Amino acid sequence: MSESFDLIVVGAGPGGYVAAIRASQLGMKVALIERERQLGGTCLRVGCIPSKALLETSELYEKSTKYFEERGLLVQGVKLDLAKMMHHKDGVVSTLDTGIQGLMKKNKIQRFVGHGRLKGNGIVDVTGSTPATLTAKKILIATGSVSAALPGIQPDGDRIGTSTEAIAWTEVPSHLVVIGAGVIGLELGTVWRRLGSKVTVLEYLPRILPGVDEQVAGEAKRIFEKQGLSFQLGTKVTSVTSDGKSCLITIEGAEPIVCDRVLIAVGRKPCTDDLGLEAAGVQTDKRGFIQVNSHYQTTAAGVFAVGDVIGGAMLAHKAEEEGIACVEKMGTGHGHINYGTIPAVIYTHPEIASVGANEDALKTAGVKYKAGRFNFTANGRARASGNTEGFVKVLADEQTDRVLGVHIIGAHAGELIHEAAVAMEFGASSEDIARCCHAHPTLSEAVKEAAMAVDRRAIHS
Ligand code: NAD
Repeated sequence: MSESFDLIVVGAGPGGYVAAIRASQLGMKVALIERERQLGGTCLRVGCIPSKALLETSELYEKSTKYFEERGLLVQGVKLDLAKMMHHKDGVVSTLDTGIQGLMKKNKIQRFVGHGRLKGNGIVDVTGSTPATLTAKKILIATGSVSAALPGIQPDGDRIGTSTEAIAWTEVPSHLVVIGAGVIGLELGTVWRRLGSKVTVLEYLPRILPGVDEQVAGEAKRIFEKQGLSFQLGTKVTSVTSDGKSCLITIEGAEPIVCDRVLIAVGRKPCTDDLGLEAAGVQTDKRGFIQVNSHYQTTAAGVFAVGDVIGGAMLAHKAEEEGIACVEKMGTGHGHINYGTIPAVIYTHPEIASVGANEDALKTAGVKYKAGRFNFTANGRARASGNTEGFVKVLADEQTDRVLGVHIIGAHAGELIHEAAVAMEFGASSEDIARCCHAHPTLSEAVKEAAMAVDRRAIHS
């Protein structure tokens, strides 16, 4: 006996569960298949949320041990209880999971625990604790991504780990080597450095944070080095082995490194294993990402896909927007997503946030632009809170003054960036931002001043 639905969603990450809710709001009868007990996908279980819990707590620890005294706060005997810190992180995840389970019930979404496999003709088999055969007019694949491995180098689930292991280690490594100076490497490298590890980051490219505005990435490297991270750029790792107690990393043309743990953070790849794509006629590109058209429709009629599994920026909020746009197109014929205004945030301290084009991309595209920059050193609130590192940079079209991109490195950059995202969504000029009153004293004034600096009329620099 098969049960029939209007929409079957495979994968309950931010792309899948959000799409399921929106589809239900639009009147569809929805099934959601997820093989993990917890909902929320990589983002909630082993990604964005647990890493942010660890970043927040480790930042408190570092502040209390290194920076309180200079502010006149004499705190003695601060000690790390790593097990309790992990327990707090797990509690955050579990509370949010309960919230999503509640949302599924509220929206009458039928949940199936198990592995979903497409059989073609609108049929999906579920194998696992609630085995079933489901049919639907439409199927949405939102199975996300998994950590990529280096050729010939496999994580061993213990000393050589990916982000999944690195958010759950039960002791602080004395020397952690991170392979890959991207987002995950820097966020989790920062966590363990704050907790006491010596952290060495090995990066294949001659720079850190590829994709991030070069000036911002340069400033970030300078600040992270001052904090104690050490970088080896232009480094090609040839092997990583472990004897269960320590790890040996061999590098082309350089001395090998012995350390006690390795984090491999060299990107992620689409998660499509045993999904039945071939049976259903769903084609992937040569890197394994599912190919979709502008309606998120795959090469198989009635089968759609969103999120990390289709490529593009691997961001939870990009997946959510795609999930909503996809089911709105199904339900109403209209759906909207502006890929030019999706913000990106790196949750180190200081945070790094951006929206729109960076200088490198504008130069490559031959776009003529003006840049306005304002440093947090000249911002009153930044001084008062001891967050003077970094700057805001606004890039605007030389002719029209339309904002083309905003890049921030500084405290709370991840919150500040949304003013720029909204401004860009409304097609604002830098003068529009400059003429908006910003409360004093706030960090947001630096955004206004950077917009004023585009026209060389910043007040405080
Ligand atoms: P990434 O693409 O951000 O960085 C990977 C880094 O590894 C790059 O700098 C790359 O040059 C380097 N690299 C690749 N091969 C290498 C090699 N053989 N030796 C040394 N370095 C090598 O990937 P990530 O940090 O693993 O993150 C995966 C995805 O998850 C990204 O798309 C990221 O945007 C996303 N993510 C986002 C957030 C956030 O938004 N805050 C947080 C975590 C992850």
